[in-house]
Amino acid sequence: MRFDIMTLFPHMVETVLSESIIGRAVSAGHLEINVHNIRDYSEDKRHRVDDTPCGGGMGMLMAAPPIYNCHKAVTADRAEGEKIYTVYMSPRGTVLNEDVAKRLSQYDRLVILCGHYEGVDQRAIDLLVDEEVSIGDFVLTGGEIPACVLVDCVGRLCDGVLSEAECHEIESFEGDLLEYPQYTRPVDFMGMKVPEVLLSGHHANIEKWRREQAESLTKERRPDLYAKYEERQNAAFFGKKAAQRN
Ligand code: SAM
Repeated sequence: MRFDIMTLFPHMVETVLSESIIGRAVSAGHLEINVHNIRDYSEDKRHRVDDTPCGGGMGMLMAAPPIYNCHKAVTADRAEGEKIYTVYMSPRGTVLNEDVAKRLSQYDRLVILCGHYEGVDQRAIDLLVDEEVSIGDFVLTGGEIPACVLVDCVGRLCDGVLSEAECHEIESFEGDLLEYPQYTRPVDFMGMKVPEVLLSGHHANIEKWRREQAESLTKERRPDLYAKYEERQNAAFFGKKAAQRN
């Protein structure tokens, strides 16, 4: 999958996304990440990219023309049939979660616009953006950290990015449950012991313990998720009963 990130602060994004698992996935060719400096597309003599809001108000807004020019250049090499989706990182957007990440991972390419200052001229959004995406109900100084969050959580769903050992299939949010507690050696740390069952080698009991832990943790911390989980369990149970009757 390919990501094109449009920003005024390319180093912020490059530094984060060149490290660890995402950095390795890029080196191995599983992901392509290109970072574009919107300032390079300003037609202003002094490469200005922002201006004061019309109608007054605090701060500066990112102007539409450099963003438009940047997007045009970035998408100029669109291949026949390539599914490109443009996202603006914004506190007004769809709140990111695992389902949104899975949906976005179905595109061939995500073009991500990072806002800064007071945000972006609405016309750039209306012309170019397919969806605004928020990383939570709080306001950050810029869209660069949210863009890194988006690339990380979408990127890790792409083929080849995670090794088998890092596999995402049994992590939090899969099947609407949070992950159970995990332990590694030493078996005794400051008098706190790894639960006996995990040392038993009895796989069925380990699975049972993990599921119970995941259920009680989810029930306590995320009753909203637990309700979804119960609903799916009930639907599966009654579906099975109906199939048996027919
Ligand atoms: N004036 C804007 C508002 O009230 O909605 C906030 C602008 S914010 C200071 C600057 C930029 O940070 C935004 O344009 C957006 O790109 C990014 N940003 C801030 N909070 C965000 C969030 N929760 N999710 C995604 N992007 C965010």
